[in-house]
Amino acid sequence: MTDITCKLLVIGAGPGGYVCAIRAGQLGLDTVIVESTKLGGSCLNVGCIPSKAMIHVAEEFEKAAEAAAGKTPFGLTVSQPALDLKQAVAWKDGIVQRLNNGVAGLLRKAKVKIVHGKARFRDGRTVLVETETGPKTVHAETIVIATGSAPVELPFLPFGGNVISSTGALALTELPKRLVVVGGGYIGLELGTAFARMGSKVTVVEAQEKILPLYDAELTGPVAKRLTALGVEVLTGARALGPTAKGDGLRVETADGKERSLPADRILVTVGRKPVTDDLGLDNLVLDMDGRFIRIGERCETAMRGIYAIGDVTGEPMLAHRAMAQGEMVAEIVAGLPRAWDKRSIPAICFTDPEIVSVGLSPEEAKRAGHELKIGQFPFAANGRAMTRHGETGFVRVVAQAGSDLVLGIQAVGQGVSELSAAFGLAIEMGATLADIAGTIHAHPTLGEAFPEAAMKALGHALHI
Ligand SMILES: Cc1cc2nc3c(=O)[nH]c(=O)nc-3n(C[C@H](O)[C@H](O)[C@H](O)COP(=O)(O)OP(=O)(O)OC[C@H]3O[C@@H](n4cnc5c(N)ncnc54)[C@H](O)[C@@H]3O)c2cc1C
Repeated sequence: MTDITCKLLVIGAGPGGYVCAIRAGQLGLDTVIVESTKLGGSCLNVGCIPSKAMIHVAEEFEKAAEAAAGKTPFGLTVSQPALDLKQAVAWKDGIVQRLNNGVAGLLRKAKVKIVHGKARFRDGRTVLVETETGPKTVHAETIVIATGSAPVELPFLPFGGNVISSTGALALTELPKRLVVVGGGYIGLELGTAFARMGSKVTVVEAQEKILPLYDAELTGPVAKRLTALGVEVLTGARALGPTAKGDGLRVETADGKERSLPADRILVTVGRKPVTDDLGLDNLVLDMDGRFIRIGERCETAMRGIYAIGDVTGEPMLAHRAMAQGEMVAEIVAGLPRAWDKRSIPAICFTDPEIVSVGLSPEEAKRAGHELKIGQFPFAANGRAMTRHGETGFVRVVAQAGSDLVLGIQAVGQGVSELSAAFGLAIEMGATLADIAGTIHAHPTLGEAFPEAAMKALGHALHI
């Protein structure tokens, strides 16, 4: 048994953990990071990055297929395209591999010691790591739990055979002819849309009354319309019951209470994610929990001094950029810098078609918080760049406090709007008013011009509508 002693031990090298370790290393803290699988966590290996790679493949394939069918309005034709999904997955895996190596390089540059193995708490200062070369004991002054999350399994539809999680969906080398997606949240819809664009017949089963229940109907409307255009059947208010007797599909109870069998080559279950805390030895600690998630305070501190938790293991919003921001903050706190969680917003994006971005408060949330509102909305139908990209669907919406004109929230739906999230986030973080946004010169012709136009609309003088 080998012993390692360090100032900071980070458990889990996902976006939360590896960012925390890099920042700690930069600050001169003697840091060890333990990872049981691959550097980069869910995000890099089976989440954000591979899903966006496959969404890109689907988009390119659909464009080619539309051109082959003579459906482009600008006269582009090509011969029938074919997609080698095996090669697409290999390309995606290559990107993941490059990023894995990149994370390893960054950790090394920051002089962080990487230990490959599964960590388990022995007490609040000691962790046992099972490595390929035997157990190692790590003693640390401070420990950060960044063990992330894993897909939730339905007991009556366990993963295996033709029932797959998002991880399985991203590794498919053969296109399922019929794909049923259980769960109409962002992960299910991003992947479901991608498979539909590649040619699968997709059905989405969602228990709630609408898809993407966390977003308002104005934002989700264009996504629902596009799903219909893609031939995706969306069953809302429907409950998955289990596999059909022959195992060739899914039994569901539809909104009218009737039972229906949906034929499926693959059933993709995306009904949420659960924290990874099993076998972590949490029973040897005294932590407060929020259900199955680890409860944290403003500075990501847990109920035990010297133990922090960051990222998905602490609950919603389970997003990579939140985990990274928490990781950076905790490293600085451990190094003695004066830091607090002072973020004004955490942007959320659905990489559906069209994409949805939401930063800050929605109109409903702002009203619930007691604000009188000024709202301005500008359609991409009136934006020159959107027209030249053949993407006139959607809008930008700015939600401001009446009186002060302080911008409380910004949302958008449309093709390519994910890239506008940076400007939206900066505006909220800097405490912009409607006049600040309206008064900023935005380059022409860009989708971003819809942003000042929406602010001008809220001020009562939009120029292009
Ligand atoms: C299909 C999909 C698409 C997504 N798309 C996006 C997106 O577009 N944008 C976005 O912001 N988020 C997205 N997410 C969510 C994002 O992946 C997570 O929010 C993010 O990865 C959380 O980071 P984390 O560091 O908390 O945990 P994780 O990334 O889950 O990393 C935790 C790490 O800890 C390791 N670990 C666990 N237990 C132990 C142990 N006992 N010992 C050692 N190591 C351990 C794990 O192996 C893992 O590598 C997506 C997720 C999925 C599944």
